[in-house]
Amino acid sequence: MVSNQLARQLKAEILRGEVEITVINESDTHVYQPLFLYMAFDQAVPEDAHRPEKSVLSRHVKLVVGNAERVEREKSVVLMSDGQEIPYDYLVIATGSRPAPESIPGLVEGGHIFYTEESALKLRDALLSFKGGRLVVTVAVPHKCPVAPLEFTLMAQDWLNARGLGEKSQVVYTYPIGRLHSLEPVANWANEVFPARNIETHTFFNVENVDPEEKTITSMEGETLSYDLLVAIPPHMGQDVIHRSELGDAGNWIPTNRHSLQMDGADNIYVLGDATNLPISKAGSTAHFEADVVAANLINRIRGGRGSARYDGKVFCFIETGHDQATYIKFDYEHPPKPQAPSEMIHLYKLAFNKMYWLSAAGVL
Ligand SMILES: Cc1cc2nc3c(=O)[nH]c(=O)nc-3n(C[C@H](O)[C@H](O)[C@H](O)COP(=O)(O)OP(=O)(O)OC[C@H]3O[C@@H](n4cnc5c(N)ncnc54)[C@H](O)[C@@H]3O)c2cc1C
Repeated sequence: MVSNQLARQLKAEILRGEVEITVINESDTHVYQPLFLYMAFDQAVPEDAHRPEKSVLSRHVKLVVGNAERVEREKSVVLMSDGQEIPYDYLVIATGSRPAPESIPGLVEGGHIFYTEESALKLRDALLSFKGGRLVVTVAVPHKCPVAPLEFTLMAQDWLNARGLGEKSQVVYTYPIGRLHSLEPVANWANEVFPARNIETHTFFNVENVDPEEKTITSMEGETLSYDLLVAIPPHMGQDVIHRSELGDAGNWIPTNRHSLQMDGADNIYVLGDATNLPISKAGSTAHFEADVVAANLINRIRGGRGSARYDGKVFCFIETGHDQATYIKFDYEHPPKPQAPSEMIHLYKLAFNKMYWLSAAGVL
């Protein structure tokens, strides 16, 4: 996104050999993660979520496929694991985040997640062989996509009903704080919808461990719940390259200025997407709106300006609500979200966006 905007706006400088834009990615495939939710219910397959990275990049952007070992600030280079050094005048870090199921004892052995492609496909198979019982969805924080756990829970209830397992099953949802979601208006909305769909809820439930033999999860608060199928949204961490580069905090999140998106104490390093330590939703839309600001500032600075565009905290998320309906939330640093009434139209729009994403990634939209 940033690189395509730079390539478009700085084409003359690139053609004159004054500017060079390089994207480093460990894979040559671009993956659209929101489809993992649908893969878990067998409503999407990996091919739907994959495109060659080159196909979404401007031809004026150089792609280096490889693993970034470390950012060496004193030399202004990114050191690759094959020993290659990639120099930079400006660096944009958008390394994302990863779920850390290993941080909850017993979870890897006893539960499922759907936040990676591989795990979503395993969960799909577990759901397809589920004969009914207690399906427990347990949420830990921080995690990316603030609303995916709610979407999964509501879609799971629908899915069980559609397969004739609704009567024999109980969907259970746990959340670590004293309400159903960290965004209060979303929690209030879920407070009405979940009981109406017969979803059992437990708040102040910080999962401490999973016992795969007994099929139970226990919280730090001392509550134990039994499960037949466990789906966890484990806490997330920033990527290991951030740790190796000593750029992050204990969770590998990079301290970032909330408006300029510059790394604290680094004038020529910008951070966007899940990699920041900003207390806002880690979502693709966040990365998208942040990318506009970072690109504008880089273009402006390269042309001699001060790079004073500011990010206002804007986030936009669709929320699948089951019953073939969806709603959405939009908010920023100053304005809290107000969930709208769900409708079939918004659900269809979300499905359409899952296809339009590729135009957005390529900078066409
Ligand atoms: C199930 C699910 C549903 C979601 N639904 C939504 C939704 O509906 N709406 C929404 O807005 N968001 C949603 N999201 C969240 C969204 O996908 C992420 O917030 C978004 O992808 C973050 O973008 P990013 O650029 O920060 O990181 P990423 O998209 O994760 O990109 C990071 C890139 O950095 C690369 N990388 C990392 N480390 C290295 C290294 N050392 N060397 C080289 N390359 C490296 C990775 O390979 C990756 O390509 C969802 C996520 C999941 C998992």
